[in-house]
Amino acid sequence: MSGTVSASCRYPEDEIPVLMDVLAKKEGVSAEHIVTGSGSGELLCALGGMIARNGGEIVSAEPTYLEMTGYAKNHGASIKTVPVDAALKHDLKAMRAAVGERTRAMYVCNPNNPTGTAVPRAQIVELAMSLPPEVLLIVDEAYMDFADDPAVGSVGELVKSGRRIVVLRTFSKIHGMAGVRCGYAITRPDIAAELTDARQATPNLFAMRAAVASLGDTAFLKDTRQRIIASRQRILRELTSQQLAYAEPQGNFVFFDTGMPLADFTAKMLARNIRVGRRFPPYDNWCRITVGREPEVDAFLTALRAIRAEHGTAKKVG
Ligand code: PLP
Repeated sequence: MSGTVSASCRYPEDEIPVLMDVLAKKEGVSAEHIVTGSGSGELLCALGGMIARNGGEIVSAEPTYLEMTGYAKNHGASIKTVPVDAALKHDLKAMRAAVGERTRAMYVCNPNNPTGTAVPRAQIVELAMSLPPEVLLIVDEAYMDFADDPAVGSVGELVKSGRRIVVLRTFSKIHGMAGVRCGYAITRPDIAAELTDARQATPNLFAMRAAVASLGDTAFLKDTRQRIIASRQRILRELTSQQLAYAEPQGNFVFFDTGMPLADFTAKMLARNIRVGRRFPPYDNWCRITVGREPEVDAFLTALRAIRAEHGTAKKVG
């Protein structure tokens, strides 16, 4: 990126094919299947706009990541939400049953934000094959690089099945490039062409060069994955010893029951300089904590122990 400063007076168009070729190779598809964007969020919004035209309906889970459905709703789409199941995973059967005549798309976030849970690859394949051919299946795999359940995996290759499927990936998570803005979609060439028209910005030159370099830095990616998973396991061990329930995490965050209203927990954490995720109704006592760097995880675990001890004492006295 530093070396790109001197080239930054130029438009980035000439280098987009370089990134697209690298991504196509990685995903085992041809470059016509790839659309790059200024973050995957931009592509989610572009998809939302495409679906919303003429008032389409989208089926999605509740709770899930809202960037696509929020944008689509603002542009005239209606959203049908289906609660996650008892394990806080996407209830794919109920989502399939919710598909009606007006349904134009289904959004599956795998692993899901904010619950962190993931559904097996085979279940998404089955869902994709069972959907009416006109329904677009959008699979958001922003956190897939952190999954360690062997049954969980990318469905990128499904785009070659001829079905209407878009798989989204980002450089914001395991690549550590959230502020740089680069993401991409893998999809059928005709949908790729439509999405390319709907998108508003390509990645900039810094983002494109950084993305190519980062894909080649396999040691960094491996190390980041190992450390995030190790920290995630440390958090789970502490939650288990505190007897706090959690959803099985496959991303770089953990969603757990704090045992108290989230507003109280948030205030207690903030008093210790730790900012936790917002409330995700109806999980009013549950908190999403991002797995940070190791010293940040240490600080969180120390704060959690202190808050739990305080809470236990308060309960006894009360
Ligand atoms: N998808 C999910 C599930 C996310 O959580 C996020 C960001 O937090 C995004 C997509 C958007 O990421 P970006 O626009 O940085 O690629």
